[in-house]
Formats: sequence, structure tokens, C-alpha cells
Amino acid sequence: MKQTKRFGILLSAVLLVLAGCSKPQPKADTIITNAKVYTVNAQQPWAEAVAVQGERILFVGSAKDARKHRGSETKVIDAGGRLLLPGFEDSHVHFVSGSLSLAKVDLAGTRTVEEVQARIRKFAQEHPEAAWVQGRGWMYSAFPGNMPHKKFLDEVVPDRPAIMTCADGHTSWVNSKALALAGIDRRTPDPENGKIVRDENGNPTGALLEAADAPFEKIIPQPTPEETLAALREGLREAARVGVVRVHGEGGEFEALDLLDKIRGEGNLTVRFSVTMWVSPPGLSADDWKAYEDARLKYNDEWIALGGMKLMLDGVIDSGTGAMLDPYEGQVKDKGKLFWEPEAYKKAVAEINSKGIPVSTHSIGDAAIRLSLDAYEGGARVSGNSDLRNKIEHAEDIAAPDIPRFGALGVIGSFQPLHANPDPTWMGAWIQNVGPEREKRAWAWKSVLDGGGRLAFGSDWPVVTINPWLGLQVAVTRQDMEGKPEGGWIPEQKLGLADAVYAYTMGGAFAMRREKDEGSIEAGKLADLILLSQDIFEIDPHKIAETKPVLTMVGGRIVLETR
Ligand SMILES: [Zn+2]
Repeated sequence: MKQTKRFGILLSAVLLVLAGCSKPQPKADTIITNAKVYTVNAQQPWAEAVAVQGERILFVGSAKDARKHRGSETKVIDAGGRLLLPGFEDSHVHFVSGSLSLAKVDLAGTRTVEEVQARIRKFAQEHPEAAWVQGRGWMYSAFPGNMPHKKFLDEVVPDRPAIMTCADGHTSWVNSKALALAGIDRRTPDPENGKIVRDENGNPTGALLEAADAPFEKIIPQPTPEETLAALREGLREAARVGVVRVHGEGGEFEALDLLDKIRGEGNLTVRFSVTMWVSPPGLSADDWKAYEDARLKYNDEWIALGGMKLMLDGVIDSGTGAMLDPYEGQVKDKGKLFWEPEAYKKAVAEINSKGIPVSTHSIGDAAIRLSLDAYEGGARVSGNSDLRNKIEHAEDIAAPDIPRFGALGVIGSFQPLHANPDPTWMGAWIQNVGPEREKRAWAWKSVLDGGGRLAFGSDWPVVTINPWLGLQVAVTRQDMEGKPEGGWIPEQKLGLADAVYAYTMGGAFAMRREKDEGSIEAGKLADLILLSQDIFEIDPHKIAETKPVLTMVGGRIVLETR
């Protein structure tokens, strides 16, 4: 008895020594401390400090406990009480065309001819080397009669051809030099799927609707691989600037895999890529399968990986090309049309899913969305796989009975919140085309979530900016950047801020099958972090769009710091 007690005391002493000294804490490369950490991890939603070792998170917790990971080489960043979030993931971009668009005039947000002209004039002066002056992002309402005229463009670009694409992507505005180069004059007939806007004498005014701008595809010089590479580098900088650390490439990236790999080889890749391969009707050829399989074998790590196949089922509601179950408002027959024959589409989905590969489908109108859900249901049945993570892209107008099917079938609603910006100059045609009944179910992300479905948010850059903070503001306010309409557009679809942040972080990670490694701040996950200029949980939601990362870290490396 006596001996046992003595032995017990000895053992306790040994254990004390072991706990106190012989188990040194691993040392961090970086500690971000004195932060307000919102982890997006329900087990530990808030913390004060994050320790990073190599590419991964070593520790999340109190500032005091983080100190134990401090070594002589550790870089300590005092966050000054700022909000730290997981890096944002963009579940729908066109990163190559987005990057190339950075070298064009950005006309987004311009409201008058003078503003439009000032931006173009400045760009033309700064880029004397550009053979063509190209731009995008103007809106009809900026011009008299809601349509641009070549004379406004001739005034600021008289010496070179110039072409500016509308924010909706459906109308081009060109100057006289460009019209002459394309050989478009009063004798040119309208093409089948387009219209040349003309004055009272039949002369082109410089506005070209839909396919009427097709001749320019042949005469505008395509970027060389070097130019694309330079653009991608700018695109990566832009992503770091706005806090985007991973993207789901929805078109154009597959063809640029080797360029992305080259940047990675130089150690300069600062965005992680999940890349889809585009599949067109009538479906996949043996060559398509080989191309996918070759790419999948080559690219399958946390920086560049294949992320499924992309199909496009319809157009857009704004121009009446989205596929609807019932005719467009004021139309007797016109319901838009499906780009795929339904059976061919279902067959393609089943074929892809049966190999365990996820599908993302561009489906905007309620008929296209329903067909996608039907096809995904079939894909799950044929493959026997209920965890395929198929996505529906845009899903702008879901028929009410289809909303619970997202949850029931495990289909991800891939929305781009900034597309739901209710600014009348942006949304007017959409609202007019669907009419009042179908307007009520516009961008029904809250209903999809409440129905048990998952959300993944993105931008569709370059259709709108890759900057997620504007979209986040729209997701929670359902208002335009001026705070209109009062109370929000279809306010029952407003998301809580935490749910919206989730859709931009864990939601994207889940959609890209990366949730074990990304999407939240947890020990063991990749150290992809953003420290923000302001605390979005504390400020007026109408100011969320002004948020900027002051520090962006990807894989433990600081890729942006502006503090
Ligand atoms: Zn897209």
C-alpha cells in the first residue's frame, strides 16, 4: 500500500514533466493573431488566432494558445482586430476571358455618354499600341433613345477601330473605322439571328444586335499565347485583390490548362483551379473522352484539377432565349428553346455521371432547369451514385415544384448573386420577359436552401466583376447598389450573412469536392485566408460591397498585403 502510493506520486511527477516540457508544440511559419476569426466551422465558429505551417493551418484558437506555436523564425502578424475569413471560392467563372477583359475598357457602372466617353478616351490614350480599342460593360440607358451611336465612339477613337460590348453581352457598339473594316454598310443585309440598327437612310448607326457582330470575330486579332499568359497573370492579381482563392472554370480554362501549368511551374499560381470541359450536342465523342481522361491524369492536385463537364441547355431570359415552360410574357407561342434535344442531353448526363464525373449545366429558364433535374435524377439512378455533386448554373427562374428537388437529389444551386442586381437598367428586360407571376421566383436561393439544397456562389466573370463583395451585398439585401428597391426585391429570398458567406466558401468547396481541404478555417486545411478592411458582420449591409482584403494568403503564402 505504502509502496503503491509512493509509486503513484512518482508517476504523477513524471507525467507532469512529460506534459510540461517533453512535448514541444510544433512551430508555425506564420501566426495571425489579434484577429476576429470567423471560421465557417460550426464546431468552433469564432477564434482569435490562426497558426500556419507550410501550406496548411496548424492551429485555430485563442491568441494565448497560438503563442505556443511561436518559434524564433515565426512571422507574427497583428491583425489589429480585423475580420479574418476563409478565402472566397468562385463557383462559376470564365477566367481566361475574364483576364483578357482586364485589358479592355471597363464601362461597368457608367450612366451617361460623357462617362462612357471619358473612360474610352483615357484607355485609348494609355494604350496607343492597341490595334483595336475594345471594351465591355455599357448599358442601354446611358444613351439617348436607349441605344449607342457610332458618332459617340468616333469622337473619342477616330484613328483606330473600336468595339464595345454591352453589359448583357448581346449588343456590340462599333465606330466608323470598325464598320468599314468589316465591310458593313447600308447595302449589308441583316443576318439571320441578328439586326444592324440603321438610321432613316438605312445607314448603320454602329449598334449591332445579337449575331450582327459576327464579322468582327474574324477580323479582331486573337490574343497570342504570350498575351493570354500576360492576361492570366493580371487575372490572378485581380483575384488576390478581391480575395478569391479558388475558381470553378466554366468555359475557356480547359483550353488554357498548359498556360496555367506554366504559371504554376514558375511558382506564381495564386488561385486554385477546378476546370470543366465543355460538351456540345449531340454528346461526347471518343476524342472528347480521351481529352478529358488525359487532362484528368495530368491535373489532379490541389492547384489544378478537372472538375467535371459543362453543358449548356438554353440562352438567357433577357433576350428571350432562356427555355421556359410557358410562353414569354405577351407572347402566344415563344418559349425560347433548348439547345439540346432532351433525350440526347439526358443520355450525355447519364454517360458522364456513370463514370462518377459531375456535370454542370447552364440552365436559366424553368424548362431547362426541370430537364436538368430530370437528367440528374437519371444520372444518379444509372450510376448508383447519390453523391455526384451535379450543379445547375444560374437557375434564374425555378418552377415552384422543382425547388425541393435540389435538396432531394443533392443537386447544387450555382447562383451568381450579382446577376440578381435589381437595378432597372440591368434587370428591366428580365422582369418584362417573365411577367409578374414568374418574377416572384427570381433567383430563389433562400427557397433552395430551405428545401434542403446546397448553394455555391460565383460571379460568371467577365459578365460581371469577379469581386464577390458586390454579390454578397445583393445576396443579403436583394437591393441594387443604391439600396433600391426599399425592403428588397422579392425580400423573402434574402439570405442571412452567414449563409451567404458559407455559399462563397464551404459551398464552393463542397461543389468542387474540396471540403476536406478548403472552405473553412480548421487545423489541417489549406491556409487560404483573407483579412478584411471592415467587419461585414458589424457594418450596414449596404456597405458590404466596399469590402477589400488587406491580406490574402493562399497555401500559407501571402499573395496580397495592403495594410
Ligand atoms: Zn458562364
